[in-house]
Amino acid sequence: MVYILNSKISHFGDTKYEIIVYSHTMNDLDIKRIKELLSTPKKIAIVSHRNPDGDAYGSSLALYHYLLKLGHNVTVVSPNDCPGFLKWLPSQENIVVFDENFEKGKIILEEADIVFTLDFNALHRVGDQMQNILENINPVYIMIDHHQQPDDYANYMYSDPSVASTCELIYHFLEKMEALQSIDLTIASCLYTGIVTDTGSFKYQATTSKTHHIVANLIDIGVDQTKIHNRLYDTNSFNRLQLLGMALSNLKVLREYKTAYITISQQELNSFDFKKGDTEGFVNYGLSIEGIVFAVIFIEDQKQGIIKMSLRSKGEFSVNDFARNHFNGGGHVNAAGGRSHLTLQETVKQFLEIVPNYKNDLENSYEA
Ligand code: 5GP
Ligand code: MN
Repeated sequence: MVYILNSKISHFGDTKYEIIVYSHTMNDLDIKRIKELLSTPKKIAIVSHRNPDGDAYGSSLALYHYLLKLGHNVTVVSPNDCPGFLKWLPSQENIVVFDENFEKGKIILEEADIVFTLDFNALHRVGDQMQNILENINPVYIMIDHHQQPDDYANYMYSDPSVASTCELIYHFLEKMEALQSIDLTIASCLYTGIVTDTGSFKYQATTSKTHHIVANLIDIGVDQTKIHNRLYDTNSFNRLQLLGMALSNLKVLREYKTAYITISQQELNSFDFKKGDTEGFVNYGLSIEGIVFAVIFIEDQKQGIIKMSLRSKGEFSVNDFARNHFNGGGHVNAAGGRSHLTLQETVKQFLEIVPNYKNDLENSYEA
């Protein structure tokens, strides 16, 4: 079942275009068929996106523990490893990391009867090698995701961009499956992790009373929120804070366009012994400046030969559209990612040429 969530007119220079956001929900028949599928033991792979975050691993491991309880043979396959602050998640050590264990990952995907793809909606989000395998196998695909504009590869699709996290959708999926009673402390801790990280600790716009009701239920089950917050957010190394200092000294503000951006070169990363996840959240400092509605961080990744971009906005200005239109990316209205194959300097130059075209949208994006 497809619903239109909203539509709006956007401007690019003098061109106007309409953006429509759809959601696809699972109807009773879909749920009946999924229940039938899961009524006998299956080989199931759960796949998360490249550079997994709290919502990707939280949703994957929550579903993993639920499906294990049903007696299935389940494996989570992740394209690459997660940052250190997620290493405590229950059974994280059982995840097959494709980059490190290619043969094993390939066999699991090829033998799977069912493949769940969680927290992403386009197969290129897993990287070339794994995408190639996913495109050449023929399992039942089930997508559960909250990003905009899903691709059309899944047999069953639960896609709702109005919901703050995939973990919240997993909770609703379990509700539809009449399986809420299966949520034990392990599953609840995984779900809480994705909800807290993807809502920015319950402060982003997509956080609703439903989000809080779900979290209340998770706390009733016994989730230790203080411990989880500590594990996620109070794990700074000295080097990470020094790197943050460097990033903040590189911060530039384009007042006229209510825009701020940060650059970090590979050399700067190296000089502070960069570890995966160290730059998480840096982009938000740009957005925290009074009057700024659009913030970007450009991070050089010499190994992959790309500039990785994280984009954030306040209000209606869609970084999903901006990243999709100009930087091979996408995501949500207020949080998206993208990449460029140019040098760091060239990428920033290109960005500075594009931003003025959005002056109108940026000026009108947000009233504080
Ligand atoms: P981040 O900046 O934290 O990497 O990503 C912000 C949000 O955008 C996350 O929800 C992430 O999953 C999503 N995202 C990042 N890169 C891409 C991309 O290339 N395509 C799409 N569709 N979403 C992305
Ligand atoms: Mn997410």
